[in-house]
Formats: sequence, structure tokens, C-alpha cells
Amino acid sequence: MSNQGFGTAVNCMDGRVQEAVSSWMRERYQVQWIDTITEAGPVAALARGDESILAGIRFRADISIQAHESVGMCVAGHEGCAGMPPDLTHEDEVAITLSAAKVLRECYPQLPVAALWVGLDGSVTVLD
Ligand SMILES: [Zn+2]
Repeated sequence: MSNQGFGTAVNCMDGRVQEAVSSWMRERYQVQWIDTITEAGPVAALARGDESILAGIRFRADISIQAHESVGMCVAGHEGCAGMPPDLTHEDEVAITLSAAKVLRECYPQLPVAALWVGLDGSVTVLD
């Protein structure tokens, strides 16, 4: 089997969560390549409506979608994220990640956008 094609991941810059998200994306969307857009805690930035971060994410996602014909996206929050506000409950973190997915779904209604939660053990949970 030679999978081809691209998916688009909006993920934290944290090196601990790159491989888990890429692997999940390859499996979920049956693609070979994952274009990865990283920020420090992108879910928090998207959820709070940070326009400059959103513009940067969109600039890169548009290239992934238009030039690479990406077939699906995800946005991932993760355990132990230094880019998240401190002292959140896990429920708060989940709500933030779901809010971030909503923002991206509004930007990219043509693509599936998975909301993911990544544990530092490499586990990936689909939130929505
Ligand atoms: Zn992080």
C-alpha cells in the first residue's frame, strides 16, 4: 500500500506530541504526509480569539489545502502544555480544545477537523 496525499495538523510546538499526532492523522485520513502548523498552545490562542495567531495558522493551512490538497485537519491540545494558561482543570482544557476546533471548522467547512487530546504517554483521544 502506498498512501499518498496530505493532512493538516494544527499542533503545539511541544516536541513530545508531534509523532502521536502525525501517526493519528496518517491513520485517520489515510495519507502519507502531515503538514504541521505549530504554535505554543495553539488551542488556547484560537479559543481566546488571537487574530494574529489565527492569521498565521490560516496562511499555512491555506497552502496545505490549496497546494497539497489536504483532505483533513486536526487541532490538538495536550497534557502538560506550557502554552496553556496555568491552573486549568482538564475539563477547561477540553473546552478550550473544542473551541479551537470550532474556529477552524468555521474557517474550513470543506474539510473534516478533528479535535484531539494528546497524553504525554502518546495516547490520542478524539474529543469531537
Ligand atoms: Zn503545548
